[in-house]
Amino acid sequence: MKRVTLLGATGSIGLRTLELVSSFPEEFAVAGLAARGSNVELLVDLCRKYSPRAVALLDPAAVDRLAAALPAPRPELLAGPDGLVALAGDADADVVVSALVGGAGLLPTMAAIRAGRSVALANKETLVMAGRLMTAAARARGVRLLPVDSEHSAVFQCLQGHNRGDVHRILLTASGGPFRETPKARLGGVSVEDALQHPTWKMGAKITIDSATLMNKGLEIIEARWLFDVTPDQVQVVVHPQSIVHSMVEYLDGSVLAQLGVADMGVPILYALTYPERRPAPAARLDLTRVGRLTFFEPDTDKFPCLRLARAALEDGGAAPVVLNAANEVAVAAFLDRRIGFTEIAELIEGALAASRAGDPASIEECVAVDVEARRAVAGAIDTRRGGRRP
Ligand code: NAD
Ligand code: MG
Repeated sequence: MKRVTLLGATGSIGLRTLELVSSFPEEFAVAGLAARGSNVELLVDLCRKYSPRAVALLDPAAVDRLAAALPAPRPELLAGPDGLVALAGDADADVVVSALVGGAGLLPTMAAIRAGRSVALANKETLVMAGRLMTAAARARGVRLLPVDSEHSAVFQCLQGHNRGDVHRILLTASGGPFRETPKARLGGVSVEDALQHPTWKMGAKITIDSATLMNKGLEIIEARWLFDVTPDQVQVVVHPQSIVHSMVEYLDGSVLAQLGVADMGVPILYALTYPERRPAPAARLDLTRVGRLTFFEPDTDKFPCLRLARAALEDGGAAPVVLNAANEVAVAAFLDRRIGFTEIAELIEGALAASRAGDPASIEECVAVDVEARRAVAGAIDTRRGGRRP
């Protein structure tokens, strides 16, 4: 029996993971649940259904409401960022699924690594912010970082049984998002609703916008660099609108190995939970004769500058990936709030990267400080723009 702690329990990855826990009751039990606390009714249901030993919510008021709704014996309840960190490092779990969204996951995910828990990692922003520090901490503790992101799970699967030294390059596939065929000149006027229409995956709002700007693929280049210890130019992006080939590894003899499947996060989540074994995933099966055609294209980095900005931040190193991520989070939130237009997301990130004077963060605390400062600067830049013109 594997005891699972779920950071981001109420999200898209979190709820899919809980469905898998329900599908394999002899294999998995829930140790802890963590979330922001914006949906207390859902959390009450999850506590009744999965009987976690502890629950941590960012919002202390939500903790009070959860306590009032759950009769004793109730789970241990923890509040605030420190509560999430305490839950993530708790010895009760065998594996911690890191599925918070954004930089909020950094300290809890680091706590899980430092406590020696296996980490099933969905929260790619943490690796973008602190890839070197996180992978070093994982190595020092003998902790395995198991990829949940579908592309990285595909790469991980294509690497099994091969020599890492034989890898020529990694080919990350990208759906291209909802604006793959939209002319560049029209991107400035697209709406939040248009951007939330992902063609192949159902996901949380932030990653769905990242998929529309292709920043998601940019973040995934950085994620791959750290998960698989390859150089930036060993990670290439291929647009593949059907989202059937989840990614590929090209070996030095020219052989290219691919992992294929339906677009269902249940498959990579389950593999991360059962690795190195496999289980019959409760997901649709791939029928290639029904798919018919698989197509592949070069990404258009002129139309989608976020991809170029992410690669440049990885190559610059130091604080640049932290600034990139922070600027993106603030800009995406502002776009979702209808405070800026779609193409302003990339403009704000580019401005933040150019303006940043931050040095290479040598610790997680320094990463957090760079992150806070970059968020403040981008929020200020948005206010300045709003003072000037409306989207
Ligand atoms: P989501 O928005 O659906 O869920 C986010 C979860 O994090 C929720 O439980 C929410 O309560 C919690 N949360 C958000 N902000 C928080 C904060 N400040 N403090 C504490 N909790 C907070 O997001 P998602 O789509 O499930 O994505 C989660 C992560 O997984 C992201 O990093 C995303 O890039 C990655 N990912 C998601 C998918 C997918 O299919 N959804 C695929 C690959 C990778
Ligand atoms: Mg992905």
